[in-house]
Amino acid sequence: MQIARTIAEFRALRRGARPPLGFVPTMGYLHAGHRALIERARSECAAVAVSIFVNPMQFGPNEDFERYPRDEPGDLALCEAAGADLILIPPLHEMYPAGTSTAVRVGGLTGVLEGAHRPGHFDGVATIVTKLFNVVTPDRSYFGRKDAQQLRVIRRLVRDLDLPVEIVDCATVREPDGLALSSRNVYLSPEERAQALSLSRGLRRAEEAFVAGERDAEALRRLVRDEIEAQPLARIDYVSLADSESLAELEGRVGGPALLSLAVRFGGTRLIDNVVLEPPAAG
Ligand code: AMP
Repeated sequence: MQIARTIAEFRALRRGARPPLGFVPTMGYLHAGHRALIERARSECAAVAVSIFVNPMQFGPNEDFERYPRDEPGDLALCEAAGADLILIPPLHEMYPAGTSTAVRVGGLTGVLEGAHRPGHFDGVATIVTKLFNVVTPDRSYFGRKDAQQLRVIRRLVRDLDLPVEIVDCATVREPDGLALSSRNVYLSPEERAQALSLSRGLRRAEEAFVAGERDAEALRRLVRDEIEAQPLARIDYVSLADSESLAELEGRVGGPALLSLAVRFGGTRLIDNVVLEPPAAG
C-alpha cells in the first residue's frame, strides 16, 4: 500500500495502477461500513484507491468540522487489511487553494431532506467529489446507501457532467443491534446510544408494516416518528417518505420505490438512516 500526501504524488502513483481502478472517498475514522466499500472495490477492481479528507466545505458553520473524529494510524491499518493499494491524504491547501472561487452545484435533488437542513452541504459534497474524481480518475467509485441522498446527488452529478466513472452503491453496514455504523457514533453517550436504536427499530417497523400491506405514506412515517418520539433524548430533524428517484415527498398511497429516511439529533450528535421500500412487482 502506498500513501500520497500531495496531488502530484498521487498522480505519479496512479500511473502505475492497473485498470480498472476502484475508488472509495472517505472522511476517515474508518469503520466496518467503509471497510465493506473497500473490500467490494477490491473484489471487483485490479487496483483500489481510498481518499481520507475531512472536507470543510460540506460542514455548516455550526457543525462538527473542528471536532470530527480523526485517527490516521487506525485508518491506514484498516485500509491495508481491506486490501487498498493507494491512499490519498491531500492537504487542505491543495484541495482548496487560496482564492478558490469555483463550486459544483447539483440542483433539484438538493433542496430537500439533508439539503434543506444543511444549507450548502451538497455543494461541498459535489465539489469535493468532482475534484477527487479529477485527481484519482477512477473507473468505478463506491458509495454507501447509508447516505442515500448523497448517492443520488452523485449519480446526477456524474450523469449531468459526463464524468467517466461508474458509481457503485453498497448496502448499509449495521451493528448487530441495528445501529447504522457512523464515524459520529463515538460522540454518543451510552444512554444516547441506547435510545439511538429507535432509528433502525422505527425503520424496521415501517418496513414490516409495508411488507404486510400498509401503503399510506403518512401512516408509515408515523410508525417511525412514534418509535423515535418515545425516546426522551431524541430530537427529530425530519422523517421523510419520498419518491426514491426524485426525492419528492409522498402523500397518500405509495405506488413505487420509496425512500424512508430520517435525521435525528441526540445532543450535539446528528444521525441519519434510511431504508428503501419497494412494492413487489405486479403479476
Ligand atoms: P464518510 O467517511 O462518512 O464520508 O463516508 C464515506 C463513505 O462510506 C460514503 O460513501 C458513505 O456512504 C459510506 N458509509 C458510511 N457509513 C456507512 C455504513 N454504515 N455502511 C455503508 N457505507 C457507509
